[in-house]
Amino acid sequence: MQIVKERIVSPSQIDDEYLCPICYHLLWKPVECQNCQRLFCKSCIDECLQEKPDACPLCRHYVEKRCSPMFYALLSKFKIECENKINGCEQVSTYETLERHQNAECQYKMKTCRGCEKNVLEKEFLQHERSCGQVKIECTRCKRVYKQKQKHEQMECLINMLDTSNKRGERLESKIEHLEQYVQELETTLHLYIVGGFGGGVVHDVSIASLPTSWDIIYDFNYGHVTTVDELRALRSRCKKQIIVGAIQGNSSNVLRIAAMGPSDILLLDSPLNEPTKFGNVNWYLTPNYSFGFAPACSTINCNCADYNERENSDNRLSWHLSGDGGYRAGVFKDLVHNTDWRKIIMAEK
Ligand SMILES: [Zn+2]
Ligand SMILES: [Zn+2]
Ligand SMILES: [Zn+2]
Ligand SMILES: [Zn+2]
Ligand SMILES: [Zn+2]
Repeated sequence: MQIVKERIVSPSQIDDEYLCPICYHLLWKPVECQNCQRLFCKSCIDECLQEKPDACPLCRHYVEKRCSPMFYALLSKFKIECENKINGCEQVSTYETLERHQNAECQYKMKTCRGCEKNVLEKEFLQHERSCGQVKIECTRCKRVYKQKQKHEQMECLINMLDTSNKRGERLESKIEHLEQYVQELETTLHLYIVGGFGGGVVHDVSIASLPTSWDIIYDFNYGHVTTVDELRALRSRCKKQIIVGAIQGNSSNVLRIAAMGPSDILLLDSPLNEPTKFGNVNWYLTPNYSFGFAPACSTINCNCADYNERENSDNRLSWHLSGDGGYRAGVFKDLVHNTDWRKIIMAEK
């Protein structure tokens, strides 16, 4: 609060001791320096001390003391004009009531209209905002924001509400559609896990006819074909969450002699040599320049090039070269590098 001398109505003459040596205005909520016994506005001295702690601007050694009640009693007799006199306020307050008047009661404060951004007197403010065309209003029913001067017809309001509920309906519909697809996917996966036995790990002799009809073969080459990393990666975009990798013996057969199901992301694996990733009960690997395949989760793999492991679970291993050769194995059947009877199969859900 800054009260220039000219606003003091009484007393008509004031001594310098009532003025702050920092701001030269009437002392406001003063405190005293115990050392030099001069008074300062509390806010003025605090600002000084922030720059130079403990340094009184007059005596250099500041120790704060409360302003004496006697001095305060003198101050409180002062009569002061309102800071909004320039706007027409004729109120003269005592030192003690001035702050409340200016902050809470004065009708001559300026407020900025939220619409036209003009400054308006407090006492005219409500009336102004009610009639100012620029003020924006949100319709409580249709939530549309519009300027007060624009008419908001009932018809328009109804159309807005219809619009909003239509959009909400569309969003819900597409959400439901997604959910339905998701449930369908889950159902077929569950079917494969439980009925097809894929949940247990590597399976044998599963007829493709017994799988849900939504599953299709997306990769079908004989073991003489050279499988590449790019080929496998490119398949990923054609798959949903799961894929089946396996092998069929014979051109006209539709029985997977060996197969396993795993997340489609196994097509994106970049496995370090002989460090497969476990999904469910199956260890999967895709090691560029070596091989792609699976083995039961409980067993290690042994890829010199492809997995030639013989010691355990040899009937549950599948491994295809990624080093520029065909082959390599489908369970116990190995060295299928130039074999055209066995087929490499990858299946995905439509
Ligand atoms: Zn001051
Ligand atoms: Zn001092
Ligand atoms: Zn006033
Ligand atoms: Zn306005
Ligand atoms: Zn409306």
